[in-house]
Amino acid sequence: MGDKGRSIVVGAGIVGLAMARSMAMRGFQVTVVEKGQTAQGASVRNFGMVWPIAQAHGYLYDRAIRSREIWKSICQSAGIWYEQSGSLAVSYLGEETAVLEEFYEDEHPFRSLALLNPKEVLEKCPAVNPAGLLKGLYSGEEMIVDPREAIAKIPLYLKEQWEVNFVFGKTAVEVREQKVILADGQVLEADQIIICPGADLETLFPEQFHSNPLTNCKLQMMRLEAQPKGWRMGPALFAGLSLTHYNSFLQTSSAQALQTYFEAAYPDHVKWGIHVMVSQNGVGELTVGDSHEYGRSHDPFDKAFINGLILEYMSRFARFPTERIIATWHGYYPKMTDGSPDLILEPLPGVLIINGVGGAGMTYSFGLAEEICSAW
Ligand SMILES: Cc1cc2nc3c(=O)[nH]c(=O)nc-3n(C[C@H](O)[C@H](O)[C@H](O)COP(=O)(O)OP(=O)(O)OC[C@H]3O[C@@H](n4cnc5c(N)ncnc54)[C@H](O)[C@@H]3O)c2cc1C
Repeated sequence: MGDKGRSIVVGAGIVGLAMARSMAMRGFQVTVVEKGQTAQGASVRNFGMVWPIAQAHGYLYDRAIRSREIWKSICQSAGIWYEQSGSLAVSYLGEETAVLEEFYEDEHPFRSLALLNPKEVLEKCPAVNPAGLLKGLYSGEEMIVDPREAIAKIPLYLKEQWEVNFVFGKTAVEVREQKVILADGQVLEADQIIICPGADLETLFPEQFHSNPLTNCKLQMMRLEAQPKGWRMGPALFAGLSLTHYNSFLQTSSAQALQTYFEAAYPDHVKWGIHVMVSQNGVGELTVGDSHEYGRSHDPFDKAFINGLILEYMSRFARFPTERIIATWHGYYPKMTDGSPDLILEPLPGVLIINGVGGAGMTYSFGLAEEICSAW
């Protein structure tokens, strides 16, 4: 190990971990520097959805599937819980059904999809509200991890399997060619430096972030207590609002009519970027979210009415044996405003910034890291 030279990765979120893995596997001696005692950014605050359904077939879908396979092999080696539960989108309106049917027609040659009638939907997922249910679209490809467990265990796995060093609790305050300077004055030297700072756009190369089409998104989330007696929901669940959020569904010609409907019928949900999804972790808890507020900076407080809007919409399509909230939080991610799926910059020779993966970092970081490293 280490015959390709030394590499420093700044940030132990999923993007930094994926880069550390891909580089160590290619013979770099890798050190990861993380300012928190553990990673505390978007990578521990998300649904844990590895979510190919959000990508229409093409290179981003391929990246998602490649990532999922890497996730599986890491989870198996590192003893991390995961479930390829699939996903289920449900419809209660003609406009929603039209999107699901068109998506199915366009995409079923490329992936594992099934259009379900109400009886079949209820057999797949006992949480679905049967009143007024029209159709379901089941995809067998989505996988769930518990992000808190996974992001804590992957460093241990990388250390043991690939001899990656981790320096937690130290902020990188400056990067020069082949040098990373830490807040305590320590200088680390490397041949290749990779910067994966997530939503911290101000500490390293802020001018790069300010001159690129990047915004910061704030999302509110909730966790419901573990369901009783081992109750499992089956696939991760979502409904009409999500069909106007993801590019994969937005590319159908039926999506525009649905968007017009939501703008009139659910103006507050549209205004606060709310679309509602539910996933279940290995101990039976449910993760429910989310909202999307865009801007360079945000107020630090959660808005109770947003959580109310999320729960109100959830009750339209799902019911759970227990819906007691045990945690609420918010997270941030930088997102490209020009539609690009990521931002890769080389501000100095041998220094790479990787950011802007938006709401898909858990879904495609491992694949993205492989693409970057195999291109070298
Ligand atoms: C609420 C929410 C739900 C989401 N749901 C999903 C989902 O279900 N599926 C999906 O695919 N994606 C999801 N996402 C998106 C996904 O979580 C992000 O794309 C991904 O976590 C971004 O990873 P990252 O490594 O770039 O950033 P982060 O996870 O934020 O990691 C960056 C790390 O760098 C560290 N750092 C920053 N600056 C420095 C410095 N100068 N020195 C040292 N360390 C530094 C930070 O402390 C942090 O730990 C969601 C995001 C949120 C917020």
